[in-house]
Amino acid sequence: MKKVIAIDGPSGAGKSTVSREVAKALGFQYLDTGALYRAVAYYLLKKFNHINDFLSLNEQEIEKEIKNIKIHYKNGRVFLSDEDVSDLIRDPKVGEITSQISMLKVVRDFLLPIQRNFAKEANIVAEGRDMTTVVFPDAWKKFYLDASTEIRAKRRFEQLIKSGKNITFEEALKDVIERDKKDSLREISPLRISSDAFYIDTSELTLQEVVSIVLKKVAEDA
Ligand code: C5P
Repeated sequence: MKKVIAIDGPSGAGKSTVSREVAKALGFQYLDTGALYRAVAYYLLKKFNHINDFLSLNEQEIEKEIKNIKIHYKNGRVFLSDEDVSDLIRDPKVGEITSQISMLKVVRDFLLPIQRNFAKEANIVAEGRDMTTVVFPDAWKKFYLDASTEIRAKRRFEQLIKSGKNITFEEALKDVIERDKKDSLREISPLRISSDAFYIDTSELTLQEVVSIVLKKVAEDA
C-alpha cells in the first residue's frame, strides 16, 4: 500500500478544499469518497422515479442494482459508465438521497474495494466520513476536520449560491443538521473521531491556514 493521508469530518468542515490543496502540495492523488457515494445516489435517482421505489426492493434486488453500477473516478472527476457526472452530483437533492443510501451495507461494501484500490496505485489524500476508521484504518496520517454547525452551514450556503443554486441560509442550516444526524447516528461506519486522528477545529481558520497546519503536521511526523 502507498501512503494514505486520511481526512474525515462532517459536511462543510473544509475537507474537500483542504484535501485537494494538500494533495497538490505533496504530489499525491486526491480521492473524494463523497463523490462516489453521490454518484451512486445520482444513478439511483435517474433510474427510479422515487428513491423509495429502490429502497422497497428486496435485498437481492438492491444488491443487483448496485452491482450493475459502472463507476469510475479519475483526477477528482467521477464517471458513470462514460458520463462525467461530477457537477450533476452536487445538486442538493442528490446530497439528501446520498445520506440515505450511504446507510446501506450493500452500498458501503460495493464502494469499499473501489476506494482501497486507489491506495494500491498512488499516494493519496482520501477524504470522507470513514477514511480514518474503516477504509484506511492503517493510514500513514489521520486528520479530523470540524467546525461549528453555523459556520459549516454558512460555508455550504455560500458555496451553493456561488454555483448558482437557489437556497436560503435556513435551508442550508437544516440540511447540515439533518446530514450530521444521519451520518453520525447510522449503524454502519458512522462518522466519529478516530482516537489516533489529529483534530482541527476550522471554525476560526481560513482554509489556507488549515492546509498549512496539515502540511506542517505531515512534515513534522514524516
Ligand atoms: O462529502 P460529501 O458531502 O460529498 O458526502 C455526501 C454524503 O456521502 C455524506 O453526507 C455521507 O452520507 C456520505 N458519505 C459517506 N461516507 C464517505 C463519504 C461520504 O457515508 N466516506
